[in-house]
Amino acid sequence: MPVMRIKSFLNKPTFKSKRKSKKSFYNDNVSLKVKDGKQVLIEKVGWISTNEQIPIGVKYTNPRITHDNKYWYLSVGIEQETSQEEMTDVSLGIDIGVKALAVCSNGTVYKNINKNNAVKKTVKRFSRLQRQVSRKYEMNKEGNRFVKTSNVIKIEKKIQLLHRRLSNIRKNHLHQSTNDIVKTKPYRIVMETLNIKGMMKNRHLSKAIAKQCLYEFKRQIQYKCEKYGIEFVEADKWYPSSKMCSSCGSIKKDLKLSDRIYECVCGHKMDRDLNASINLAHYQLAN
Ligand SMILES: [Zn+2]
Repeated sequence: MPVMRIKSFLNKPTFKSKRKSKKSFYNDNVSLKVKDGKQVLIEKVGWISTNEQIPIGVKYTNPRITHDNKYWYLSVGIEQETSQEEMTDVSLGIDIGVKALAVCSNGTVYKNINKNNAVKKTVKRFSRLQRQVSRKYEMNKEGNRFVKTSNVIKIEKKIQLLHRRLSNIRKNHLHQSTNDIVKTKPYRIVMETLNIKGMMKNRHLSKAIAKQCLYEFKRQIQYKCEKYGIEFVEADKWYPSSKMCSSCGSIKKDLKLSDRIYECVCGHKMDRDLNASINLAHYQLAN
């Protein structure tokens, strides 16, 4: 049975750990008691309300209490029954990339959020502020020392907020896309193995962010599959999902990265990523 981690935060900021040096501690699971899903009994502290519903009627494991300088959090593993009964007989292949975030074998396409106009605008503003702040540092330099003027502090605050906004937009988009996918209830999901070494070599920041999103996308699909009882399959890294014709199975060795349309000698013609996702959907473990 898979263990899902949930995080609920406690809304009593006056609550303090007795062990001063540690910002987190474990609570004994035996004594973790939950009242109406809205209150939790913490050892030696008492009943604490949470701002979110705590799942009830389940077994809790490894409860942990942490603090992030703003809120107290309760993280707890819960054991959940998974059921196979409502699944469809669809094997869903997902091809992930930079052009689109994900193309599914059922034809659904999830956009790359970084190509969204609002996001592009925010990124532009972000880089403008970064240039502005480094110019100001240069201007106010005293010998070898950089000086933080009140103006610099103001701009840096704006940068922090924009950074937070961008990362929230990206995270939300990933969660929405992965939720949407698992809710189609395929009995299994097949994805390709991501090439870690090739990705680490990438020096361009925007591309690095895109790749990072791909990892996060895959991680989310994986744990959401576990949560819903969907089989998760990672295709062998030599599986030619892009180069194979999803209609006749022949391999196109000279397929270039710039070829957006897959064209086969058999007459089959299809969007390159959709062709790849269909091949992933048909992946056989014995391959
Ligand atoms: Zn073909």
